[in-house]
Amino acid sequence: MDRPFFKLEHYIGGEFVQGKNRFEVYYPATNEVIGTAPEATAEEVDAAVQAAHRAFRTWSRLPAVERRRYLRAFANAIRESAEELARIETWDVGRPIRENDPAVYIARVANNIEFFADFAVTHGTEAFLMDTGYVNYVQRMPVGVAALITPWNVPLLLETWKIGPALAFGNTVVLKPAEWTPIGAWKLAQLAHQTGLPPGVLNVVHGFGPNSAGEFLTKHPLVRLISFTGETTTGRIIMQNAAPTLKRLSFELGGKGPNIIFADVDLDRAVEVSVRAGFFNQGEFCLAGPRVLVQRPIYEAFLDRFVAACERLRPGDPMDPQTTLGALIMPEHLQRVLGYVEEAKAQGAQILLGGDRPSLPAPFDRGNFLNPTVITGVRPSDRICQEEVFGPVVTVLPFETEEEAIEIANGVNYGLSAVVQTKDVGRALRVSNALEVGTVWVNDFFVRDLRVPFGGMKDSGIGREGAQYSLEFYTEAKTVCLSNR
Ligand code: NAD
Repeated sequence: MDRPFFKLEHYIGGEFVQGKNRFEVYYPATNEVIGTAPEATAEEVDAAVQAAHRAFRTWSRLPAVERRRYLRAFANAIRESAEELARIETWDVGRPIRENDPAVYIARVANNIEFFADFAVTHGTEAFLMDTGYVNYVQRMPVGVAALITPWNVPLLLETWKIGPALAFGNTVVLKPAEWTPIGAWKLAQLAHQTGLPPGVLNVVHGFGPNSAGEFLTKHPLVRLISFTGETTTGRIIMQNAAPTLKRLSFELGGKGPNIIFADVDLDRAVEVSVRAGFFNQGEFCLAGPRVLVQRPIYEAFLDRFVAACERLRPGDPMDPQTTLGALIMPEHLQRVLGYVEEAKAQGAQILLGGDRPSLPAPFDRGNFLNPTVITGVRPSDRICQEEVFGPVVTVLPFETEEEAIEIANGVNYGLSAVVQTKDVGRALRVSNALEVGTVWVNDFFVRDLRVPFGGMKDSGIGREGAQYSLEFYTEAKTVCLSNR
């Protein structure tokens, strides 16, 4: 597949800027260098924040319908570039191209912008008539410069999930994409630029976290809020760095989702949902369901069919539409994932499938591929069942009762999402209500209306985003008390 060599730039104040220092960008499927990106210095980050700060004056005062005009044009440009964006996401992440379906994945990317543009126009506000005849109402004001810091696993989806509400509600943005996946953010900046978004409204700076673009942004006094998605440990550091300047924070952090399967399910459907929950994006997914819990009566039958289905997953060239399992983001991460598997093996776990690397033709033999891996014989307290492995690795454990399943499911520090599979409506309700997670899917996976709250409990995050919840985060609420005298 023909691939350009990407010479990425920052996007600061409406201009594409080369930057002083550069780093290399790799294709996870081959580990070839496919581009270079600037690593922002403190001065470059400052220039982006200053540009956003200047643009805030005008952008924040535009009527929401005017902002919607710009954002709809941006969303349309995303749709028109859907095929290219799908390829870019695969070059960035190593995910199979079939998972970037323009009609589904890229459509959602565009809708992240358009949905919030519409919501900002149509949402209402609260007003209270006091006994005295005075009126109190709540006005929503944009906060200021928003720093948006995103991870490498689903970049386009998460970048627009933050850009959309931040801009729609009248803030201006400095986006720092993950250093491993900077191409998509650069392309988004180009599209925003081409559709005439005013200079400084959206800025993109590239670079790393500590002592680099990420840290500079989180400490910048003119940044008023940070929406961060990434690892829990990074969230802790950002919180510390943001404390002296009292920024408002929204954190979407790690996950370790349970996928609870009761004995009354349709086995084929349960297997299909479980394969998607375990292996979408080669398992590098915060919302994944890598902890499969199966009720004892169907444990063996489920396992047979599940392993057979996982065996059919095809690692290989992510640009080939037949490929169903992509490459992990980087060699170090592959080693980390393999480390979890080796440790489980050493502790007596059974590796029913995978645990090794596929033999692929060149140049994919140099990529970060791992075969789909299914492990049994582990304990809920084992590290592989507690920590985020973030790869195509699923553990399967039997359980007897509803209570036991809930206890295992809740017995981790994370609380992002869960899958519950059963035909019994009462049970689905009881289990969903008992789970300590931000989102529960009953009999499906990874479907979400943008109006509902999204976020995690426990170590999986702070705050919620989505329609009204994003409005609350990205705006200040002001009370106006109006006298009748
Ligand atoms: P990461 O925390 O290493 O990096 C995320 C971003 O933070 C990157 O842009 C990075 O450069 C930046 N960063 C790192 N250190 C920083 C610092 N000190 N200051 C400022 N910025 C800093 O995460 P990752 O490895 O890129 O992504 C994987 C993680 O993201 C997983 O834990 C996954 O569960 C999580 N995730 C969560 C969600 C969710 O919605 N909850 C969604 C996707 C991914």
